[in-house]
Amino acid sequence: MTNQPRIGVVGGGAAGFFGAIACAEANPQAQITLLEAAREPLGKVRISGGGRCNVTHHCFDPAQLVGYYPRGGKALRGALTRFQPRDTVQWFEDRGVALKVEADGRMFPITDDSETIVACLMRSAKQAGVTVRSHTPVREITRQGEAFELVTRDDRLTVDRLLLATGSSRKGYLWAQRLGQTILDPVPSLFTFQINDRALQALAGISVPEAIIRIPGTKPHQNLSQTGALLIAHWGLSGPAVLKTSAWGARYLHDRGYCTPIQVNWLPALTSEAVRSQLQTLRHGSARKAIGSFSPFGFSRRLWLYLLDRADLDPQIQWAQLPNPKVNRLVERLTQCAFEVTGKGQFKDEFVTCGGVRLKDVNFATMESRVCPGLFLAGEILDVDGVTGGFNFQNAWTTGAIAGYAMARPLAA
Ligand SMILES: Cc1cc2nc3c(=O)[nH]c(=O)nc-3n(C[C@H](O)[C@H](O)[C@H](O)COP(=O)(O)OP(=O)(O)OC[C@H]3O[C@@H](n4cnc5c(N)ncnc54)[C@H](O)[C@@H]3O)c2cc1C
Repeated sequence: MTNQPRIGVVGGGAAGFFGAIACAEANPQAQITLLEAAREPLGKVRISGGGRCNVTHHCFDPAQLVGYYPRGGKALRGALTRFQPRDTVQWFEDRGVALKVEADGRMFPITDDSETIVACLMRSAKQAGVTVRSHTPVREITRQGEAFELVTRDDRLTVDRLLLATGSSRKGYLWAQRLGQTILDPVPSLFTFQINDRALQALAGISVPEAIIRIPGTKPHQNLSQTGALLIAHWGLSGPAVLKTSAWGARYLHDRGYCTPIQVNWLPALTSEAVRSQLQTLRHGSARKAIGSFSPFGFSRRLWLYLLDRADLDPQIQWAQLPNPKVNRLVERLTQCAFEVTGKGQFKDEFVTCGGVRLKDVNFATMESRVCPGLFLAGEILDVDGVTGGFNFQNAWTTGAIAGYAMARPLAA
């Protein structure tokens, strides 16, 4: 009898492919079968990053990287020392795919086409000898002694080691649970904010390079005060500051039905005192000019008029006519502008699930379950998720690769 393992990979996404390829390359004798429900594997890779696939992030320091994961950063710390974004870049480079970095650190294939990544993963799996069975949904998974039986529409497959890489599929969570893992309630992360303010919505398309979104009444450790570019959308607010707040607040916002007050600081680089002092300078230096006649602070004029309106100020009055209480009100609108979030909107470029397999049930040195030996877990099925920027795929590459190497070892005689 051979002591080479039979490996089953359920889920042909980023994590499943990476796990299968790593395993096959580490042990060419292992028999690896990857089962994917959809006709075409790697569906999310294909649509990711607006069709460009934000493969990873240009941050090569694991200690810094973990700060981008609202959930799972601590558990990933060690894993990222074994396979981190630098390794991802090298992995693709070795297989003929060059990545480029954009100003904000996001990394894409130089072709700006996710098909490049899909093709590379498909080619690498084939070359490594992975059997990829598309359009083959796994219907049932059961433990048979130390092995696992996978039931498909057409057949049953017995494997010694199983990699569950089913992303946010309900069935995947159910199997993980039946095999002994605890599942933390899955809820959405990375979404935009619906705000029913017609005057704001009318400004759709206007953005500011930096703002702070804060959910009042929350504690610093909840990280519900996030800085970044802010984009006004026809349904409310979007942009990195909102997406980061939605990621850190995924569970908090879910528990409140996506209804919460927020405050926007439109001028995070200035203290309230500095804003007040600049307004006082305008009162003297531009005394005869109407307050709505030009936009200070670099805002677009339409946004400035909106902010004046929010402060109940007539844009026709002159700077000299602005008494101190009104200056104070304007300072408040500029630095703590209140909005009511009434729901969550979509973010078409990226979306991810918070929750999944509890991390203490998994050994991150191997990605093997601590409660079900022979079961490995990788990717979004885990309670790991990152902010937008390539961190979610990095989780899939890192945990997939580590699972693949660990599954490759020969079986004990
Ligand atoms: C629109 C969109 C854009 C995104 N863009 C980016 C981005 O640019 N950068 C980034 O870092 N992250 C991005 N993400 C997040 C990223 O796609 C996920 O984090 C990543 O795909 C997770 O990989 P995975 O392999 O764990 O899961 P998935 O990619 O979800 O793969 C799971 C696979 O399992 C299969 N499966 C499920 N059940 C079964 C079954 N019973 N039998 C067989 N197969 C099954 C599914 O069909 C699927 O192919 C984006 C997400 C979305 C939705």
